[in-house]
Amino acid sequence: MLRDFFARMNRSADGQPPGVVVLKTNLSQRISTADCVFCKIAGRELPAEVLLQTPRVISILDINPIHYGHALVIPTSHCSDFLAIGDADLHELMRVAQDVARGMVSALGLEGFNVFSNNGRIAGQSVFHFHLHITPRYPDDDIRFVLKLKSYRDGEMAAYADKIRHCLSHH
Ligand code: 5GP
Ligand code: ZN
Repeated sequence: MLRDFFARMNRSADGQPPGVVVLKTNLSQRISTADCVFCKIAGRELPAEVLLQTPRVISILDINPIHYGHALVIPTSHCSDFLAIGDADLHELMRVAQDVARGMVSALGLEGFNVFSNNGRIAGQSVFHFHLHITPRYPDDDIRFVLKLKSYRDGEMAAYADKIRHCLSHH
């Protein structure tokens, strides 16, 4: 029914009431969830080493780890990237990520770990279903982000902050 269609259109994935339209930007191409490896893992159609599953989130071991124990935290409902995830999924994802990180620190006796997410092909995203990486770190493990750091010139820092602030939904 057309009316149902518009009712659905007016409700965001995280259950905003009708009339509240949340604009979402997809960095990645749209893909069919039927072809999505993380949808298949979340639906238990493909095997994975599952650490934890909650109603909205699944955490698994990455098949090609940076270090053994490298985990992924994935919303079970498909969304392409950080800009597309709904509030309820995001909230549960962060809780699960903290739980997995605590477990990893304790199980592997870690002094440190990284939490990161690649968003968009140019940022290194290869699976276009949003996920966080949690990776163990070890002293002298020789993993480095090789960065050439910039400095701001006079007024540039404020100009960048202004530009971004103007586009935030909470201002
Ligand atoms: P991205 O490159 O999108 O940030 O991260 C995707 C991650 O998913 C990669 O680290 C890759 O090793 C992992 N991955 C891809 N396919 C599978 C799979 O079928 N099973 C598991 N467990 N991990 C996968
Ligand atoms: Zn998916």
